[in-house]
Amino acid sequence: MQSSYDVVILGGGLSGLTLSLQLKKLRPETTILVVEKRVGDAEISAFKIGESSVELGTHYLRTKLGLADYMDENHLPKHGLRFFYSKDKTAALDQSVEVGPIFKPPVPSYQLDRGIFENDLVRIARERGVDVQLNSKVVAVELGEEQHLVKFMQDETEIEVETKWVADATGRRSFLKRQLGFQKSLDHNINSAWFRLKGKVDIDDWMTDEARRDLLKPGLRLLSTSHLMGKGYWVWLIPLSTGNTSIGIVADEDIHPFDTYNSFEKAMSWLHHNEPAAAQKFEGHKENLMDFMVLKHFPHDSGKLYSEDRWGVVGEAGAFLDPFYSPGTDFIALANSWLSNLIVSQIEGEDILSRAILFERVHSAIVHSWVPIYQHKYKFFGNAQLMVLKVFWDFATYWALPCLLFTNGGFTNVGALKQLFAKAGGVGQKIGELNASMQNFFSQWGELEELPCTNHYIDPFEIGYLRDFHNGIESQFEADALMEQCAANLAKLEMVACEMFRKVNAHYHGDELDIPVNPYKLNLADTEVDAANESVISNSDASIRDDIQTMWLTSSSAQVSMIK
Ligand SMILES: Cc1cc2nc3c(=O)[nH]c(=O)nc-3n(C[C@H](O)[C@H](O)[C@H](O)COP(=O)(O)OP(=O)(O)OC[C@H]3O[C@@H](n4cnc5c(N)ncnc54)[C@H](O)[C@@H]3O)c2cc1C
Repeated sequence: MQSSYDVVILGGGLSGLTLSLQLKKLRPETTILVVEKRVGDAEISAFKIGESSVELGTHYLRTKLGLADYMDENHLPKHGLRFFYSKDKTAALDQSVEVGPIFKPPVPSYQLDRGIFENDLVRIARERGVDVQLNSKVVAVELGEEQHLVKFMQDETEIEVETKWVADATGRRSFLKRQLGFQKSLDHNINSAWFRLKGKVDIDDWMTDEARRDLLKPGLRLLSTSHLMGKGYWVWLIPLSTGNTSIGIVADEDIHPFDTYNSFEKAMSWLHHNEPAAAQKFEGHKENLMDFMVLKHFPHDSGKLYSEDRWGVVGEAGAFLDPFYSPGTDFIALANSWLSNLIVSQIEGEDILSRAILFERVHSAIVHSWVPIYQHKYKFFGNAQLMVLKVFWDFATYWALPCLLFTNGGFTNVGALKQLFAKAGGVGQKIGELNASMQNFFSQWGELEELPCTNHYIDPFEIGYLRDFHNGIESQFEADALMEQCAANLAKLEMVACEMFRKVNAHYHGDELDIPVNPYKLNLADTEVDAANESVISNSDASIRDDIQTMWLTSSSAQVSMIK
């Protein structure tokens, strides 16, 4: 071990280890120490959560870190996100509204065994020249003008190293946040309990209707991150490459108090009450229980993220909102990309003050525009019709901007970020406003009578604009063309917002399907618009209208649609 490094990373979990790989890739001569308190290897399968990756985080692992071959060989190819909604929870799963891809989605994602992954990341980091010290607990950080000091314990010995940069990747321990006092709470009270079972839990086996089951090739449904949705909660099922299964409950404290499922026995009885058909299936695996863990009120914000004084926070040590849609690895990818860019720029002699401020602003803007996706929304998580539109809206915004920008290096391109997020009327800002308006509309809709729908299959890739956004994620653009593509995506999202609003409004209020709409001021209680406002959209897009009609399950009686 050296006595001085360019960068010391506190914590060698997913964010710390991937940050070290990214730094080595950007500037191989950077000297890096990762200080991780874990003693010995991580346990396989029953280690941490964060097992489902989605498109942005996957692109980071595969392309930005150069782990594509490793990922393909060691982790499961995920078959997208899958959601089940049913009112009669005792009925077979094929009576539900099921949302998920039938065929392999073009842009990849993975199911990660976190134990295997973190053990391998330690090995890969060391192979790439990173000094990773396990059994090392950080006990003090002294931030200095020229150098910082990091002190950590290895058994009974205290070790002290000097470093130019400190990156806090200590997860929920949030070492620097606690030391410097920039904790920030978030008004979103959800809790979670999870357990791993030895062996596979294949929901194909839960299907009694062969036509529904055989919509997907055998084994594909198993590879999805499946969500059993209900009022105030969702239950995940994730297969792991070791052949084991991760199962978790995430619920709103106001609807499902934590103490109703915070032990394995209570969680099983909670499942018997809320997801009885699933609980019956889990009963058969009870002797295969590998672990049981809980986490209370875990969403949190961060008052600071990146400092020009040569420190920053990444991963869960920064902000964390909600695991619904599996965005944890995405936020790691974003924060690591910003921090590594700052570190390399500073080491190479750049004054990073304005860059650090910009990255922090954009990061905070993204976190805050993401909050309404979840906040006060759990109460209608069991409302199938509403959730189909909401999930497809949330997919669309995610694929249309953050994913596209990330794969094109836009998040570390100062010019692009200024244009998108810092300029009044910039596309990034406008997508944030549009999303806020849509999430408010979903909340209003959630207060209205729930529309009955059951026994339906819907594939997001049957929806033309969603398919286009998804297929476009990894398209590569020159700077100007990227800005144009972002603007075009915003224009399409505005149309989608209008058509969704028109459809719901027509259903509840009987208005025509072509009323003028201001997508930035959606209001189901008052549809009057100021025609002179430049945001008002009067024309209707036929293909998007057809797409919304495809999502409208309410008018049709029981059916399995989308079978070609
Ligand atoms: C219920 C739930 C479900 C989730 N599901 C998903 C999902 O499906 N997909 C997804 O992408 N994300 C998911 N996440 C988020 C995911 O778990 C996190 O994004 C990810 O684990 C954070 O990684 P990290 O490296 O920041 O923190 P961690 O993985 O917690 O790593 C922090 C490391 O720091 C070490 N450490 C702490 N203190 C010290 C110290 N003083 N000295 C030395 N080392 C220290 C710890 O030992 C640990 O290894 C989920 C989160 C929750 C709460």
